[in-house]
Amino acid sequence: MSEVFNVEEIFAKNVFTLGKMKERLPKNVYKEVVKVMNEGGELSKSAANVVAKEMKDWAVENGATHFTHWFQPLTGITAEKHDAFVAHPDEEGRMLTEFSGKELIKGEPDASSFPSGGLRATFEARGYTAWDITSPAFLKESGCGMILCIPTAFCSYTGEALDKKTPLLRSMEALSEQALRIVRLFGNTGATKVTASVGPEQEYFLVDKDLYMQRTDLMFAGRTLFGAPAPKGQEMEDHYFGVIRERVGAYMKDLNEELWKLGVTAKTQHNEVAPAQHELAPIYETANIAVDHNQLVMEAMKRVAIRHGMRCLLHEKPYAGVNGSGKHDNWSITTDNGVNLLDPGDTPNENIQFLLVLACIMKAVDTHADLLRQSASDVGNDHRLGANEAPPAIISIFLGEQLEDVVDQLIATGEATSVKEGGRLLTGVKTLPDFKKDATDRNRTSPFAFTGNKFEFRMVGSADSIASPNTTLNAIVAEAFCEAADRLEKADNLELAIHDLIKEYMSAHQRIIFNGNGYASEWVEEAQRRGLPNIKSMIEAASTLTTDKAVRLFEKFGIFTKVELESREEIIYETYAKTINIEALAMIDMAGKQIIPAVVKYSRTLADTVIAVKEAGADASTQMDLLKRVSTRLTAMQSALTKLEEVEKEASAMTDVKAQAFFYKDTVKAVMEQLRTPADELEMIVDKEIWPIPTYGELMFEI
Ligand code: ADP
Ligand code: MG
Repeated sequence: MSEVFNVEEIFAKNVFTLGKMKERLPKNVYKEVVKVMNEGGELSKSAANVVAKEMKDWAVENGATHFTHWFQPLTGITAEKHDAFVAHPDEEGRMLTEFSGKELIKGEPDASSFPSGGLRATFEARGYTAWDITSPAFLKESGCGMILCIPTAFCSYTGEALDKKTPLLRSMEALSEQALRIVRLFGNTGATKVTASVGPEQEYFLVDKDLYMQRTDLMFAGRTLFGAPAPKGQEMEDHYFGVIRERVGAYMKDLNEELWKLGVTAKTQHNEVAPAQHELAPIYETANIAVDHNQLVMEAMKRVAIRHGMRCLLHEKPYAGVNGSGKHDNWSITTDNGVNLLDPGDTPNENIQFLLVLACIMKAVDTHADLLRQSASDVGNDHRLGANEAPPAIISIFLGEQLEDVVDQLIATGEATSVKEGGRLLTGVKTLPDFKKDATDRNRTSPFAFTGNKFEFRMVGSADSIASPNTTLNAIVAEAFCEAADRLEKADNLELAIHDLIKEYMSAHQRIIFNGNGYASEWVEEAQRRGLPNIKSMIEAASTLTTDKAVRLFEKFGIFTKVELESREEIIYETYAKTINIEALAMIDMAGKQIIPAVVKYSRTLADTVIAVKEAGADASTQMDLLKRVSTRLTAMQSALTKLEEVEKEASAMTDVKAQAFFYKDTVKAVMEQLRTPADELEMIVDKEIWPIPTYGELMFEI
């Protein structure tokens, strides 16, 4: 029997939780920590020193040798530089480990090699990391041993954000401040803070390590760049929620244990739609911590896979023609006295605060549909959005039958006097209970769906950080709340003013509501008639960051300055160009060194056979025909390869990053397709013994 573990015992074992601080810190210091956590401000120097010492002692007791300021630069992943708790030995050569409040609060990693989008001149390499007291420190176990990780924000010498956490924290503060103004209108004076909560559902693929190592594309690009479809795909729908295979089960067990120790509430696990695709969802938590934890989930998924002789693929589209992976970002907003602003209750038509919040969210999403779409874009996601497996690139809101009916009534008459009941679901079996039905069914095709007491933003890519989507969501909703509060706070007759505002917002932004099938081509046309943006790629979405509308929004709430936005736009072009360049080079490598040589060898065998069969006086037409089919495709491959080498060189030499990114999208990618098509056809014809790389069938079914 395998080792048994107790969740209660191991949960947050490797986290310096509030509970541990309460136990270890003097009362006054603990109080100071809690105050800063909740209200902001800075820890006094003496308190910081005490916290640092206790944090270090706890870490060392648990085997830590180093600490790191753990941060999230604009690479989309995390960064860390380890420093040992080592100091000068004393005169007798004894080592007394040290860690000061100053080291806890501030770090100075050399920032010159992180993407900054021109924010930092080359002579100014300095970056600063600042402790984010709202996200707990933790111990990470890896080949390096035990490392104390201190979550931090990463800024430049002049204070510009160089990371994903700083703007997220700024957006959370903006949302809290503006949401408080809304709840105050309804007499909620007890609330002092409103928090965005997030639960991200993470999809991933597993692949056998030995097969992975034979695929240059998987190793360097994280996705297959060649590959004919397997005889069996996902058409039988037998993988979704299917029995979890032993090897995968052992992986999940290990992964859960790692995550629980890190205080991540890994909750749900199941097989996903595609073969070898799986999902893990944690319980939702404060947006900031959810973002940190999602990074830990992605890291642990990769690390644990290695231990199990596998590799974890987080790419949005590892296999063409097979479902890709996304991340559903479940988002809600709650006051610190327990009111979820997105909870409609049983009679949403009478819940005026909820209707006002809903009207504001409709306005926010409609006004900034372009920004929301941008926030969910990364290179891999371009393969998914609009491809009948993920929501289209068009942002719309799904409300469900009950709420849509309420909105319709409000728009038509200014009143919503009735509410559609969910009714009962009759099972028709005497021994089974009947259920009270939810008033809304699910719509899996909507990018932004209301699901009972939260919105589910389904557009996010699986490999991407969830910081940007949540920063944008918080920001756009903060703006709508602010504009509503500006008007309502001045109203003579508040009740009437709220009523008018709900009707006005809902009427003006009704076009963003769509309850139908988001995968249908009719919706694309309908959305165009409604004037909703349909931004097809990551790089086309990039410039939405620097429109006047976007700059006004982000500057107003101190989330991004114009300069920060411009730098982020530039980084998007850079990232895109670099990624496609790696893909192009991987294709050139595989085509030139593996596929073409194998096919040449095969055609030689065929030619020999043709001659031999003819000499023997038999009919060689079948062999001839096969040889011709192989030769035509081989010629096509060789010519596409030559062309790809040329355009890749041309692209690499370009100096304008935006033009370069578009050249990669429009020209380089098109040639990559031209190279792939004949190669995939050849894979179907050429002798399996000769084909030099593992097939889709092997990659997805041999796990
Ligand atoms: P689904 O049916 O989409 O799988 P679940 O109810 O299982 O939905 O929840 C999916 C995710 O949404 C989980 O991470 C869950 O913790 C999170 N979630 C549930 N309620 C909320 C909420 N009020 N705010 C934010 N996230 C939530
Ligand atoms: Mg979901």
